[in-house]
Amino acid sequence: MVARTWSGRRTALKVGAQAVGAKLTGKEPLSLGEALIARMRHSLDALGADLWLSAPMTGLVEEDGRVTGVRITRNGREVTVRATGGVVLASGGFSHDQRLREKHLPSPTSTEWSSAAEGQTGDALEPAVALGAATDLMDKVWGAPSVVPPEGRPFFLVADRGVPGMVIVNAAGERYANEAAPYHEFVDAMYAHDRPGASTVPSWLILDATSRARYIFMGLFPGQAFPKPWLDSGFVKKAATVEELAARIDVAPERLRATVDRFNGFARAGRDEDFHRGDSVYDRYYGDPTLPHPNLAPLEKGPYYAIPVHPGDIGTKGGLVTDATARVLREDGTPIDGLYASGNVSSAVMGETYPGPGATIGPAMTFSWLAVDDIARTRSAEAR
Ligand SMILES: Cc1cc2nc3c(=O)[nH]c(=O)nc-3n(C[C@H](O)[C@H](O)[C@H](O)COP(=O)(O)OP(=O)(O)OC[C@H]3O[C@@H](n4cnc5c(N)ncnc54)[C@H](O)[C@@H]3O)c2cc1C
Repeated sequence: MVARTWSGRRTALKVGAQAVGAKLTGKEPLSLGEALIARMRHSLDALGADLWLSAPMTGLVEEDGRVTGVRITRNGREVTVRATGGVVLASGGFSHDQRLREKHLPSPTSTEWSSAAEGQTGDALEPAVALGAATDLMDKVWGAPSVVPPEGRPFFLVADRGVPGMVIVNAAGERYANEAAPYHEFVDAMYAHDRPGASTVPSWLILDATSRARYIFMGLFPGQAFPKPWLDSGFVKKAATVEELAARIDVAPERLRATVDRFNGFARAGRDEDFHRGDSVYDRYYGDPTLPHPNLAPLEKGPYYAIPVHPGDIGTKGGLVTDATARVLREDGTPIDGLYASGNVSSAVMGETYPGPGATIGPAMTFSWLAVDDIARTRSAEAR
């Protein structure tokens, strides 16, 4: 809301001042996930622990039904590392393995829509399954509606879907869901509503000039022009009227016109009768508090823009079934001795839901801690 509210302007000034301050003093402050990982790395260094980079685990070592180590490729050589207490798998999901995506996830699916870390290639799944580990939720992702600019790095739409003056339509030019819904739910809706002749993969996000002038979108400031390569490559379609825009995205012009007119009617009346956009506190959080309705405003000023939206993800949810101390379980519910898993390599403790941001990292940290705690307790019990 940098162009809309005083609190938005103040926050932007504060962030800008911090960035300038950091440049002048030569500091490199970290925030968000980087800050979290940096703090953990700092703790690891303080304990004098080793961290081997570019050293992928390629297999598990099992002796008499117990996991006793891992095989690793390091500096081009296979090495076996013996684990005296246990092995904790924390290698992430399989977002970046197209074969595993096609095997397990709803279709169509693509690694190119995923914002997950590139190392999430599902390496640990098959070795654990070979030892009898059970899996669950393999067809689920931590959904993140995403746009993929020509540079190739996906942009995950969070606040960008809460703003007024914007609709998302299928290939027939129809709205099919509440655009401002939580990202996880929106991806589920994209797959649920995909049908022949009205595909939702990709969908089209339609913006008008007023919306572009007022709000940050895809990291661009209010009023900042779309980069030329985005327009030249056809990634962003631009047209003077709704009907011309419809023709550019192969939608019947009267169909898109009718959708926009219906939405504009809801916006003027202050209630989305079709999909209840803006009814929830979540929707309103990302809206514009200066308007009569924070999430609804008519699209009435050209130029209009259309951008394809894909059912992306920030990770996969399915993986090894674990218990309350992160021990990996077999189909019959018994634990595989010495094997633990946490984070996206394990089946999500949140099940099919996504209560909110933190629902992935929080359990990943907690179950890693529980795993190590269990290893320590078991070892001290064995020593007694
Ligand atoms: C843009 C974005 C925003 C997000 N926002 C939030 C948020 O606000 N809150 C939240 O809770 N979550 C958020 N997430 C999700 C969260 O970042 C992930 O769910 C979480 O990092 C997963 O942790 P992990 O340890 O399972 O996997 P990762 O963090 O991916 O770590 C797994 C590591 O294992 C390595 N690895 C893979 N295979 C091997 C192998 N064979 N041998 C050795 N190492 C291997 C990988 O290279 C990687 O470094 C976000 C994600 C993205 C992309």
